[in-house]
Amino acid sequence: LSDKQQQLIEREDKFGAHNYAPIPVVLDRGEGVFLWDVDGKRYYDFLSAYSAVNQGHCHPKIVEALTSQAGKLSLTSRAFFNDVLGEYEEYITRLFGYDKVLPMNTGVEGGETAVKLARRWGYDVKGVPANCAKVLFARGNFWGRTMSAISTSSDPSSYGGFGPFMPGFEVIPYNDLGALQAKLESDPHIVAFMVEPIQGEAGVVVPDEGYMSAAHRLLKKHNALLIADEVQTGLCRTGRMLACDWEGVKPDILVLGKALSGGMYPVSAALARDEIMLTIGRGQHGSTYGGNPLAAKVAMAALQVLQDERLAENSDRLGGILRARLAAIPSKMVKSVRGKGLLDALVIDESHGVSAYDVCMRLRDNGLLAKPTQKNIIRFAPPLVMTEPQLNECADIIQHTMTSF
Ligand code: PLP
Repeated sequence: LSDKQQQLIEREDKFGAHNYAPIPVVLDRGEGVFLWDVDGKRYYDFLSAYSAVNQGHCHPKIVEALTSQAGKLSLTSRAFFNDVLGEYEEYITRLFGYDKVLPMNTGVEGGETAVKLARRWGYDVKGVPANCAKVLFARGNFWGRTMSAISTSSDPSSYGGFGPFMPGFEVIPYNDLGALQAKLESDPHIVAFMVEPIQGEAGVVVPDEGYMSAAHRLLKKHNALLIADEVQTGLCRTGRMLACDWEGVKPDILVLGKALSGGMYPVSAALARDEIMLTIGRGQHGSTYGGNPLAAKVAMAALQVLQDERLAENSDRLGGILRARLAAIPSKMVKSVRGKGLLDALVIDESHGVSAYDVCMRLRDNGLLAKPTQKNIIRFAPPLVMTEPQLNECADIIQHTMTSF
């Protein structure tokens, strides 16, 4: 690492909280599928800021939406109306086929909103006795870092030392319809199951085909809601607009974030039909920045780019090529390859003395940035604007790196 990067890292270390462990590289520019470090070295981005930058870095149409609105009106708060929010609400609800949207900022706030909606629906519509509502989550879930989110976590580094935790949450195994059915049959106070169609942070864990649709059927039968956390899987990442689209599932509550702004600004949303959304009344939920005109313009531009550039199709096609190339790497260190679209993972067999972190460090040296998600799993999630020649060049870098140990 250059002295310049070393000094920049030391300054962060000195003045910033130590709640992250970044790969040592200091970046100062991004464009499309590329990032550059402060010394001018170019890298392929194979993380896309945890799938927030699906549209590519600094997409000109999203930059234009941001800058033109920033000079006009950025924030009014919801104390007043603004002339952009309604346009965005109409746009996003039409696009995804829901009656209403509730705009927030970060992914975890979208999840919190969904849980609050489910509880209110449970009391007001389902008729669960006061303070008895239960929401189910899947083991291995990740939906953020708030007290509610970590109360459902099965990862000690997420929840350890932060108790006491939120009541009314229960965790069942992922990809286990029997466990879901047993819970629903034994407990009439369950109001919802919040689940990722593919578990991202758990290491790109892909459930059996039919899991989401069968889960939805079970939930319907027991008058409980399906909350799909598509913060990471959504917005073309897995080769469809939503990962739920693979099974024709329309969740009762849909949570979006990350790529909803193409990495330009924190924008998240919970979408639902009126029966659910209107259980939260005026003054009962919100956020100072939620639904601001800047976010609304950025989100519309980000969603338009996904459609105009057919990024779902590109993700599906290139994902197939990437997984085939990864599976063909002649290295004993490749334990398995999995994923959907361009949300993929390479599972490293660390018994040969090389860790996933070591692989990521050498990938960095070879011009490609990725990060281990669980200890021995490397997630590969490049911006969806990648071309096939670029993808093949990246596969060459990964193959060359893996066989260099
Ligand atoms: N839900 C999922 C599936 C995620 O992967 C994440 C972040 O990684 C979140 C929610 C939380 O989003 P945020 O970090 O914007 O709060």
